[in-house]
Amino acid sequence: MAGKRPTMQLRTLAGVKRPPPAATGYTPRCGSIKGRRVQAETAAATSQHRAEEKVTVAVDSDLLQCCVCSGPLTPPLFQCTKGHISCSACCTDCTDYDVDEFECLMCREPETATRCRAMERLLAGLSVACPFREHGCAEMIPYADKQAHKASCAHAPRYCPIAGCAGYAGQSSLSDHVLQDHAVQRTRVRHGSLTPLRMSRLEPARVLWLDCGGEFLLTVGDDVPSGRSLSMLGFMDTLDDEFKYKIEVVGKAGVLSLSGQVEGVERLSKPYQASAFLYVPNAIWDSSPEDIPVFIELK
Ligand SMILES: [Zn+2]
Ligand SMILES: [Zn+2]
Ligand SMILES: [Zn+2]
Ligand SMILES: [Zn+2]
Repeated sequence: MAGKRPTMQLRTLAGVKRPPPAATGYTPRCGSIKGRRVQAETAAATSQHRAEEKVTVAVDSDLLQCCVCSGPLTPPLFQCTKGHISCSACCTDCTDYDVDEFECLMCREPETATRCRAMERLLAGLSVACPFREHGCAEMIPYADKQAHKASCAHAPRYCPIAGCAGYAGQSSLSDHVLQDHAVQRTRVRHGSLTPLRMSRLEPARVLWLDCGGEFLLTVGDDVPSGRSLSMLGFMDTLDDEFKYKIEVVGKAGVLSLSGQVEGVERLSKPYQASAFLYVPNAIWDSSPEDIPVFIELK
């Protein structure tokens, strides 16, 4: 069974005919100056009303996507003789928009695509609901501003890598959120030397403060079986360089170790997925209620 295509609620300026205004009881004499003035005023009011009138419609969202890249259609737009509509980014050869003929990248036939001004006019009149409506944003946004609004919306959901945190909304950085909303311990780390963290068994995260500048977050993930994971990220707004990290955990059976490049994070618009993590079995976490032998090096 074919799946339902996603639809988008949007408003557009309407050119639909309205019913005539209700009779007022006054019928101007044909040809009188007053009668002509009333007719002209009525016509002006109707055309103004038409310009302001909006209708709400539902459209399949793929009708507002570029045929080539499936991205949002942003002017200038181009249409080929077969009906493919593509965005300006997919017409990179079209540097001169005054020339109205371009190659359609779907058909690959030269000079079959022309500027699609009708679709440009339609899109210019569209407003769409903010994609974060379910997170509390009630704004209707001009279609062309959708991406810019999405990037700056105060209701945009942000994710946090600390286990159990529901995240936050808006444009604050992850570092501001962690320092304001979490009672996380901070540890000073000397550049290039292995530092013991003396973590406790239930500690969810530790902020590391590098003596030469830069703050980092060591996160303890609880989503791996029979153990927990350790992963490292850097708070992008505190970093002015690239850093390498090493995590070491000393167990009875040997040393577990992970090293790599620190990934800088400004804020997370998707749930956190560490690009690499160190798996630490429960046997090590349970070896002592305090002072789990975790060591960190940053350089
Ligand atoms: Zn495109
Ligand atoms: Zn085409
Ligand atoms: Zn919004
Ligand atoms: Zn959080």
